[in-house]
Amino acid sequence: MYTVDLDSMKEKIEFFSRIGATGNGGITRYSLSPEAHQARDEFVRRMKAIGAQIETDDLANIYATLPGSEPGLKRFAMGSHVDSVKCGGNYDGILGVMGAMSVLETIAKNNIPHRHPLTAIVWTNEEGSEFTPSMIGSGVVTGQFKKDDMMKVRSMLDPEKTFGDALKASPYLGEEKNRLTPERYQGEIELHIEQGPILENAGNEIGVVVCVLGMINYRIRFHGQACHAGTFPMDMRHDALHAAARVLCEIHERIDDLERPELVYTTGEIFCHPNVHTVVPDDVEFSIDSRHEDPKVLEEVLKIIKSYDGKEIVGCECEVKEDWCRDTVYFDRHLVDCVQESVSGLGFKNQKINSGAGHDSQYVAHIIPTAMVFVPSVKGLSHCEEEYTPAEQCADGASVLLNAILKADKD
Ligand SMILES: [Zn+2]
Repeated sequence: MYTVDLDSMKEKIEFFSRIGATGNGGITRYSLSPEAHQARDEFVRRMKAIGAQIETDDLANIYATLPGSEPGLKRFAMGSHVDSVKCGGNYDGILGVMGAMSVLETIAKNNIPHRHPLTAIVWTNEEGSEFTPSMIGSGVVTGQFKKDDMMKVRSMLDPEKTFGDALKASPYLGEEKNRLTPERYQGEIELHIEQGPILENAGNEIGVVVCVLGMINYRIRFHGQACHAGTFPMDMRHDALHAAARVLCEIHERIDDLERPELVYTTGEIFCHPNVHTVVPDDVEFSIDSRHEDPKVLEEVLKIIKSYDGKEIVGCECEVKEDWCRDTVYFDRHLVDCVQESVSGLGFKNQKINSGAGHDSQYVAHIIPTAMVFVPSVKGLSHCEEEYTPAEQCADGASVLLNAILKADKD
């Protein structure tokens, strides 16, 4: 078994944490921003230094490849993203890139034999912080999104600017022929932080990821009547926010009553019109997002949500609309075994785990065999400045990635 160098991982964490630093321990590094380009430049500089060949595709995804010993074999890839959410942490995404770099550096430095070419990838716009949806880079390459649609997506910061404009301005815009395809790539493994508390609570050091959970995403809207908050009698009102509040609590209680283990659900967004304290709201909408491995469980949740469609709640009409949904994506059994053998060989305490969060790998899994490795997130925190994983565990995760890739390379 091989291990990556801890000091080199520490140095990388410190280095990349400075790019886009907020001053409060985290980073803001939107995709294709000057900060993200700085991180990309550094990735390319370091990969060139070990003799990797650099390619970029028409989504500005970057591929750094070390040749293998047997010409003509397909590549094995490792990768993640360098972009972050607003005021995000120093590990989400970038750990997978640092891990992939560490793997290639360790292989180059120690002349570790490998048959296949090995590629470290930086995926463009995983977070979708400035350009929604998330995972545009991997989504287009794997056929989940139409490129033309994505090019028209507008910036949340500057409505004049599209994702296509940002791509054209990027020095990393390359050619379509360089995309990850099943013809050129045999498999991919992504190292990532867990972003939840399961590994930490169980006292485990590594998660062998089996699937990315299926999810449903709905919007529930209430149509009422706006009127003066001071003059209009209570019993004549059609208060859309009151209706929404009732239904929101009721839905949450009814989902709880299902008593399905590992089922999660969230209302994270509410729009209230006109959102003025002297006006009874006439139009309110909230989101509901629910995730579980078993589609039958999500079907039960859906039944609850849909039961409100067309109903009148405190004088307001309720409308239920699907926003978007995805099925559970299972990772490749053989590559998951390679990860498991690697973890067991290195002697880390581990468990099989599901991913509740979306990752580039869930799209990559649609076109080539794919797997993921998780390391614990302290207190389960992620997408915040407190996000933290000790450097030792980051290096351990990269060592798992290294040995898993070398096992996969034997086929
Ligand atoms: Zn991520």
